[in-house]
Amino acid sequence: MMDLCDLTPSYIRDIAPYQPGKPIGELQRELGLGHIIKLASNENPLGPSPKALEAIKAALPEIALYPDGNGFELKSALAARFSVARDGIVLGNGSNDVLELVARAFLGRDTSAIYSQHAFAVYPLVTQAVGALGIAVPARDFAHDLEAMIAAIRTDTRVLFVANPNNPTGTLIPGPILHEALKRVPHHVLIVLDEAYTEYLQPEHRFDAVSWLGEMPNLLISRTFSKAYGLAGLRVGFGLARPEIIDLLNRVRQPFNVSSLALTAAEAALGDGEFLERTRALNAAGLAQLAAGFRRLRLPFIPSFGNFVAVKVGDSARIYQSLLRQGIIVRPVAAYQMPLYLRVSVGLAEENAAFLAALEASLHETA
Ligand SMILES: *Cc1c(COP(=O)(O)O)cnc(C)c1O
Repeated sequence: MMDLCDLTPSYIRDIAPYQPGKPIGELQRELGLGHIIKLASNENPLGPSPKALEAIKAALPEIALYPDGNGFELKSALAARFSVARDGIVLGNGSNDVLELVARAFLGRDTSAIYSQHAFAVYPLVTQAVGALGIAVPARDFAHDLEAMIAAIRTDTRVLFVANPNNPTGTLIPGPILHEALKRVPHHVLIVLDEAYTEYLQPEHRFDAVSWLGEMPNLLISRTFSKAYGLAGLRVGFGLARPEIIDLLNRVRQPFNVSSLALTAAEAALGDGEFLERTRALNAAGLAQLAAGFRRLRLPFIPSFGNFVAVKVGDSARIYQSLLRQGIIVRPVAAYQMPLYLRVSVGLAEENAAFLAALEASLHETA
C-alpha cells in the first residue's frame, strides 16, 4: 500500500525547507554554555523599542482574550502614518504571512510567479507550496535585473516579487528606476514590493513607494516590524494595497493571525521615532565598521543597504564552522546560489569587532 505521505502533491514533497539562522540556544547546547553572538537573522542588536516593551507589559493581563482580528488600533496608526485608508492594509503574522496570503489568493496550479536569483527564499517557498511555477530570473551583479524580470512575464504570471533592498545581497534598486520599471508591469500581475529593510535607508536613498499605490492598481507593498523595529520574535508585518486586493487577502487570512501582544507592540514601536533613529545610526556605523574590516582582510563584499552584508570568504562552509566554534553565528548563503559568501548581520560595535577578529582567525586556520 502506498504511504499516506507519498500521496501528497509532488510539489509539496519537492519543497526545500527554509533554513533559519542557527538559534543561540542550540549552539550553547553544542558548545556548553558560553557567550554566543548571533549575527545570522538580521535582528535589531538594540533589542525591541523600549516603548513597545512597555506597551506589552501593560497589555499582559489581557492575553486570555482573543486579539482584535481586524487590528483596528494598529491599522489606524498605520493609516495615519502612511496616509492610506484602513481597508488598504492587511496585517500579517510577520510579513512572511503577507507573502503567503498573496500566494494563496493569487497563485495556484497553472500560474507562475517571478522573482530574482539570490532573492529572499520565502518567494519560491510560498509559490511552490500552492503548486504554482516559480521563475527565478538571473541577477545582474547580485542585483535584481528588473528589465529581464519584466521580460520574463508570461500570460500565466500572477505575481512579481521584488525585494528592495534585497536579502541576502543588500542591493538596492534606486527609487526612480524602480518606479519607471514597475509602471510597465502589465495589470494582470500583482507586484509585491517587499520593503523589509526600507527603514535602514539613509535620507539620500529614500523614496516613497506608498505614494505609487494610487497610480499602480496592481501594487502591494509589504513591510515588517521584525527588523528595524526590533520585534522579530512577536511576528508582525503588514501589506498596503488597494482595498480590492486587501479584501482577497483577508479571505484567506486566519481570523486571529496577529497576537494581541504583537498588535500592541507594533503600534507602540511605530510611534518610537527616536528608537528608529538610533537603530539607523547604529546600523550605518556598523556597516562602515564591517566594510573597513573586510577591506583590511582583503575580502570582497557586496555594498549593502540593509542591516547585513554578504562577504566573499571563499570556503564558506569551513569559515562558518570555524566561526561557530568561536561562538559566532552568521548565515551561510549557499542555498541562495552564493556558495563563496557568508551573510553577517550588523551587530553592536563590540559584536562586529568580535566577529571580524574571529573571521581573521578563521582565515588563518589551515583547512
Ligand atoms: C526578514 C525579511 C522579511 C521579514 O520577515 P517577517 O516575517 O516579517 O519577520 C521579509 N522580507 C525579507 C526580504 C526579509 O529579509
